[in-house]
Amino acid sequence: MSPIISKLPKAGTTIFTVMSSLALQHQAVNLGQGFPDYPMDDTLIDLMARAMRQGHNQYAHMNGTVALRERIAEKVFSLYKYTPSVEDEITVTPGGTYAIYTALTSIILPGDEVIVFEPAYDSYIPNIEINGGKVIPIPLNKEDFSINWEAVKAVFNKSTKAIILNSPHNPSGKLLTESDIQQVTQLARAFDFYIVSDEVYEHLVFDGQPHLSLLKFPELRSRAFCCYSFGKVYHCTGWKMGYCIAPATLMAEFRKVHQYNCFSTNTPAQVALAAYLMNKEAYLGLGKYLQQKRDFLQTELKGTPLEPLPSGGSYFQLYSYRNISGEPELAFAKKLVVEAGVASIPVSAFYTKEQNNQLLRFCFAKKEETLREAAERLRKYFSAG
Ligand code: GLN
Repeated sequence: MSPIISKLPKAGTTIFTVMSSLALQHQAVNLGQGFPDYPMDDTLIDLMARAMRQGHNQYAHMNGTVALRERIAEKVFSLYKYTPSVEDEITVTPGGTYAIYTALTSIILPGDEVIVFEPAYDSYIPNIEINGGKVIPIPLNKEDFSINWEAVKAVFNKSTKAIILNSPHNPSGKLLTESDIQQVTQLARAFDFYIVSDEVYEHLVFDGQPHLSLLKFPELRSRAFCCYSFGKVYHCTGWKMGYCIAPATLMAEFRKVHQYNCFSTNTPAQVALAAYLMNKEAYLGLGKYLQQKRDFLQTELKGTPLEPLPSGGSYFQLYSYRNISGEPELAFAKKLVVEAGVASIPVSAFYTKEQNNQLLRFCFAKKEETLREAAERLRKYFSAG
């Protein structure tokens, strides 16, 4: 057999798997991959078990169960004052990443340009490339990860098929602002393009700031695929449950791709989530809960030369090690696993081109004891060095 001609020749193994495996190998505290280590709510576990015992174990409707789509529509209205159509505008997916991939696959034709802000969550670019699209990377401003709209306008042209927005932003925790919304709206008035909006951290916003979902803005939601994650909301990333909301004409194409890929999404989880979504407290209190964790880690790390950058949302905070070393980020992150026993994610993994900004991403969605242990190890390591 001749070897497969790779559709993703540049892709290696995702950094999340690389760092989690290394963490396991060295018994490091894993603040790399973004997943909580505290337990999810027992009530949701019971609802899932009950759904299985009640016999909800066969394929669900390809678009998601009606009950879950209804609850999603109600939730979206209560948050963003817009009611998506249960019939035509909501599809339940196996996770947020799958929703993003499906949205991009629905719209990209070979040669289409897609604007991506870097650092970018690591699946976006391979998702574009596997569809024959052309990635147009635009660096976020180095100081605060804001969007340079002049740079965006400079690359916009008739081949621009889509732009990917992500707020709260992974890895920086930066939030979209009203002024960003105005800038995209201006572009939307001048050009024909789609938006894929990754909003999986919608509830994880801090310091009293609002989450500016594109669903709030009629001129933007009319061209957007907005992607969400139940895993990130309910501390069950392993359930791989999410959904996409898009206008009916866009969603029709999304469903064409979805039906021949996963076809439908885990049934008992949908039954459980539909019941659990009634409880608004479970998601409305999340920002505060995670903010405490962000602050806890920050306080614990004060005794180290690591410098925190602002994080307005998500599971993550970036820390600079510019006072410690000039080593490349991947090498430095690996060294911290082996020598300090703490895993993080090198931010260079979120760029197409080689970078060294001496930044590491730490996930603070962990128990206090985990964060304390990680900080203690880092303090000890840096004071010995
Ligand atoms: N979204 C999570 C992160 O950024 C994990 C994703 C993954 O492991 N593929 O860490």
